[in-house]
Amino acid sequence: MLNRTQSENLFQKAKNYFPGGVNSPVRAFRSVGGTPLFIERGIGSHITDADGNTFIDFCCSWGPLISGHAHPSIVEAISEAAKLGTSFGTPTRKENELAELILSNHRYLERLRFVSSGTEAVMSAIRLARGYTGRNKILKFEGCYHGHVDALLVKAGSGLVTFGGSSSAGIPEAVVNETITVSLNDENLVEEVFQKYGNDIAAIIIEPVPANNGLLIQRKEFLEFLRTITQKHGSLLIFDEVINGFRIGFEGAAGYYNIQPDIITFGKIIGGGLPVGAYGASSEIMKHISPEGNVYQAGTLSGNPMAMAAGKAQLQLCLAPGFYERLEENCNWLSNEVESFAKQKGIPFKMHRIASIFWIAFSDAEHIRSAENIDADSMQHFRKLHAHLLDSGVYLGPSGYEVGFVSSAHTQEDLKFAAEAMKAGLVAG
Ligand SMILES: *Cc1c(COP(=O)(O)O)cnc(C)c1O
Repeated sequence: MLNRTQSENLFQKAKNYFPGGVNSPVRAFRSVGGTPLFIERGIGSHITDADGNTFIDFCCSWGPLISGHAHPSIVEAISEAAKLGTSFGTPTRKENELAELILSNHRYLERLRFVSSGTEAVMSAIRLARGYTGRNKILKFEGCYHGHVDALLVKAGSGLVTFGGSSSAGIPEAVVNETITVSLNDENLVEEVFQKYGNDIAAIIIEPVPANNGLLIQRKEFLEFLRTITQKHGSLLIFDEVINGFRIGFEGAAGYYNIQPDIITFGKIIGGGLPVGAYGASSEIMKHISPEGNVYQAGTLSGNPMAMAAGKAQLQLCLAPGFYERLEENCNWLSNEVESFAKQKGIPFKMHRIASIFWIAFSDAEHIRSAENIDADSMQHFRKLHAHLLDSGVYLGPSGYEVGFVSSAHTQEDLKFAAEAMKAGLVAG
């Protein structure tokens, strides 16, 4: 059994400082049980906790670390930037450099604004969509996560197209009333919403590859339908690519599906492990942002030079030829290896995957495309697998609703080791 003495001590202390002992809820290990591990350091594919246990890491800070931990070129970029001063509150050359790298390699963006988190990017994109269209309502999908933005912490109601309730206390009803939530993968529901509220809808927001509540890969036709119906009604289509961006490919899901949304939001990989978010669109839409336009949005640390340097170093790594192909091959290898073992043993199990994202589902269903098709009871199997993997030296995000990430730091040996540990976990459970 894993020795967690130091982590347990640190967690006891942390509970005196932070609600639930953490600064972001899912870190608390509530869905898998036990004490969260306090990580002291990471290098490449591995992390080491306060008790000296080392793990192959497939959580990768929840997505940002597509090149693994402490990649030398990212570390160097950050330390060189730090020596020159950590923040100025003025424009810097580094903002131009990161923007240039992105805009010259992305077909669907003309202008960007850097912010400091994914939540901030989404919040600003929603304001921009409302400012641009002069409308208030937002249509979102059950099972998509868009950060802790008031208007988007709203869950579906019981009826088909009804207004739901908030999924957090502290959100005014007036805000909830401007958000409509429907199931993924259902053209009819969206059609119905537009028939009722078409002229009031500022935007549809979707994770084009929903990856925050299982991995709910959508049909391309569904995404194309969203493009068409928003155009028809003068609403904007927002792709929240905070997790998809620079992960599904350099152009994210927009590039993968060849669909041009109106606004794209970024976070995670864009900062190379430092706090960066961004939103971007055509110059026609972005000119509505202050100081050019009248949609206000600002940030003291936006475009922070260390964060820009880290992002640039990260995205340069992503642009290397074959970078995404190799990641996808590795993710497929791992997934196929474990899946075929489960099949032999007659265990209902599938690793849903796209690019370098995988999601473990204890179900034989070929496709799971909407949140209500996830079997909550199957999560008990994930708990057991998670515990077994920790004991074996493999770290997955501590919830069966979370996806895993293959990074370019994962070697063949890492993947082989992880596959064997997963197989053993499946039969041990
Ligand atoms: C992570 C995530 C967010 C929130 O980003 P933070 O940096 O955690 O605020 C928003 N949208 C999506 C799709 C995400 O995956």
